[in-house]
Amino acid sequence: MASITLDTVRKQFGDVVAVEDVDLEIEDGEFISIVGPSGCGKTTTLRLVAGLEQLTSGRIFFGDTDVSNTPAKKRGIGMVFQNLALYPHMSVRENMEFGLSVADVPQEEQDERIVKIAEMLDIAELLDREPSELSGGQQQRVAIGRTMVLEPNVFLLDEPLASLDAKLRVEIREELQELQKEIGVTTIYVTHDQEQAMTMSDRVIVINDGEVQQFATPEEIYNEPANRFVSHFIGTPSMNFVDAQLSAPSESLTADFGSVQIDLERPADGSTELLDRDATLGIRPEHLELSTTEESTGTNTAAAQVRIVEHTGANKIVHLSIDDRDFTALVPESTDVQSGDEAAIRFPPENVYLYDSESGDRLY
Ligand code: ATP
Repeated sequence: MASITLDTVRKQFGDVVAVEDVDLEIEDGEFISIVGPSGCGKTTTLRLVAGLEQLTSGRIFFGDTDVSNTPAKKRGIGMVFQNLALYPHMSVRENMEFGLSVADVPQEEQDERIVKIAEMLDIAELLDREPSELSGGQQQRVAIGRTMVLEPNVFLLDEPLASLDAKLRVEIREELQELQKEIGVTTIYVTHDQEQAMTMSDRVIVINDGEVQQFATPEEIYNEPANRFVSHFIGTPSMNFVDAQLSAPSESLTADFGSVQIDLERPADGSTELLDRDATLGIRPEHLELSTTEESTGTNTAAAQVRIVEHTGANKIVHLSIDDRDFTALVPESTDVQSGDEAAIRFPPENVYLYDSESGDRLY
């Protein structure tokens, strides 16, 4: 097993900077997800770690060993892609044995490893079948198992569950997590799906335009997003943003937009960065408090018109307008709200974020 360090890692394809001077330290045994929009450099980062792409500059270490110029085959990595290729005319057992035989692992140990991993992945009953006799989910389990029996130092997965239906994805996600913890192999998992990244990982790397935006635990990414991009990318429905004017008349700090005024706690550090300036205010849909019975005149509260109500099962997604500005609120299904309602929306100050309008950096 190994820790993985990326030291100012850069990859350019001609003029395109796919990965821009990335520094990362992934601990031995950690489960890390790389998440970000299409084309942000996730796959390229993974391929650099794997040795399938040549670095433009920078270095990669596994433990203390500089592997920057080590060929992929000698890095001791296991990889699983979305478009897996099982050998079609071999049984599941033979598929799992293949790499072990190439690596000259004694037959008895091969059998032991295959049975152990097959049981953990719930494919022990399928060892004598051929891939064409398996469902998509079973094939994906075999692909994961075939890599895991090789006991790689580093396990790399690129959207391995993307082609599966939602229920199966959750099932295999849980199995994969258990397997990874049991074996303790350092794992990097690439996905564009923030929910997968947040539920599976010890820490999450959020990338945009080849640059790391934040590398932190799922809780930190959700509660303390580094900037507007991370705030927007993580969370469903996405965070609400509105242009606001900040002012600090006395000991307090207020954010105004339209006729709405929100009283925030002034930072104790006496920072003047937040005083009397424009900013972007952000609040998550699940933090907006909606009432159709209360007055809209209380502190931090605004009058809103409910435009559309969507039902998700456990919750309602409520699209509403405050002074012609659009907001989304996420409320429990039991909330009595319909399109056309007048509502009072409260902005709990402890859930309000502020961002620099230009750079998107978080100010508060
Ligand atoms: P997706 O989620 O769509 O798979 P990604 O985040 O994995 O995207 P990458 O595949 O790493 O993104 O691509 C990052 C950037 O590098 C993109 O602009 C892409 O077009 C470019 N790129 C990737 N591979 C090559 C290549 N072999 N030649 C030229 N440009 C490439």
